Amino acid sequence: MQLSRQIRSITVAGSDGWELSRRARALREAGEDVADLTVGEPDRRTDPAILDAMDRAARAGHTGYAAIPGTDRLRRAVAARVVARTGVPTHPDEVLITAGGQFGLFAALSATCDPGDGALLIDPWYATYPGTIRAAGALPRPVTALAAHGFQPREADLAAAAAGGGARVMLVNSPNNPTGAVYSAATFDGIARVCRDHELWLISDEVYDTQVWDGRHITPRALPGMKERTFVIGSLSKSHAMTGSRIGWIVGPPSAIGPMTDLATHTNYGIPGFVQDAALFALGLPPAFEAAVAEPFRRRRAIVERALAGQNLIHAAPMQGAMYALLDIRATGMSGEAFAHGLLDAQRVAVMPGESFGGAAAGHVRLALTVEDGRLADAVARLLDHATGVAARG
Ligand code: PLP
Repeated sequence: MQLSRQIRSITVAGSDGWELSRRARALREAGEDVADLTVGEPDRRTDPAILDAMDRAARAGHTGYAAIPGTDRLRRAVAARVVARTGVPTHPDEVLITAGGQFGLFAALSATCDPGDGALLIDPWYATYPGTIRAAGALPRPVTALAAHGFQPREADLAAAAAGGGARVMLVNSPNNPTGAVYSAATFDGIARVCRDHELWLISDEVYDTQVWDGRHITPRALPGMKERTFVIGSLSKSHAMTGSRIGWIVGPPSAIGPMTDLATHTNYGIPGFVQDAALFALGLPPAFEAAVAEPFRRRRAIVERALAGQNLIHAAPMQGAMYALLDIRATGMSGEAFAHGLLDAQRVAVMPGESFGGAAAGHVRLALTVEDGRLADAVARLLDHATGVAARG
C-alpha cells in the first residue's frame, strides 16, 4: 500500500537532518559521556511554581476539553503582553493559542498557502521550516542570507525571489535559529517593503524575543501596512522553559483566527486547559523570571567568545540573540557534516552540522548553549583541539 505523496514529502530523501543528534543520544543511552550541544532546549526544567499552577488547575477540574482558540483569560494575557512589548494595539480576538510555536507555524502556513504555492524562507533556516511548509502543501523557496552579511537577508534577494512569482508568504525568524542574528531595522524595512510590493503574507517567528544580546527585538507587525498581513508566532518554550508543555500562540488578522481555529478543531482539538492555566500563571510572573531564564545564554555566549579568542581557525557568526553559536569551520577544509561526525567520534562532543539548516550554513556547525557553563567551556576547547588536529592533517 502506498502512503500519500503529501505525507511522504515532508522530509526529503528520508533525512530530517537530525542524524547527528540521534547518534549522540544513542551513545548516551549506551552509557557514553557525550556533551550534547545539539538540542535547542533550555537546560533548566519548568519552574516548580508553574508546575504547581498546572497541578492546581488540573485538580480544580480543568481536565476536560478546553476552549479551542484558547481560554479567554489566556488570550487576553497574550494580547496584553504583545501590546506591552510592541506597542501594537492587539485584541484577544487576534490571538489563537497553539500547541507550541510549531503548530502556530503550520497553522499560519496552512492559512496563507494553497497547495503548490511558494513560501519564501531564509537559508539558513530553523530545521523544521521546509518540512512544515511541505506539510501545509506549499513549496519551500529558499532565499540565501550570507555569512558575509551577518546572515541578514537582503532586500534585493527577497524582491528577486518574490518577483519570480508563485510565492504567497514569507517566513522570517529573528532572533534567529541557527545563526544567532537579530535582524536590524533596515532588514525589517526591506522585508516589509517586499511583502507590501508583492502582496505577500508575512510569518514572523519570534519565539526567541526574550533573548536579545545585541541590538533590539523588532516585530515587523509594527511596521506601516504590516499588521493586516502579518502572523506573529510566539511560545513559552524558550522564554519560560516550558518546551514540553507545548504551548504557544499566533497573533494575526482576526479574519484568519476563525479559520485557523477550525484547523485546530480538526487536528489537535485544542490545548489542555490545565496547561493553558499554567501558561496564564507563567505570563503573570514578574519580568525578572524571564530574565533569569534567558541569563545563562547571555553568559554562555561570553564563554564561547572567550574560548575562541586568540585563535584564527574557527570564527563565530555574530551571536546577537537566541541560544546558539554558529561556528564557521571552513578553514579546516571539512564540511559541517563531516566535522560534526568526526568531533562526536573523537571527542564525544555533539554539535549540529550547518548543512541541517540549509546550504548557506554549509561549512558551519551549530552549538546549542544548553549545557552547564563548565561543560560548555570544555566542549568548545575540545572542538578547537579537534579542529586544529584536522587542519594540521590537511
Ligand atoms: N521556531 C524556532 C525558530 C525554534 O527554534 C523553535 C524550537 O526550537 C520553534 C519555532 C518551535 O518551538 P515550540 O514549538 O517549542 O514553541
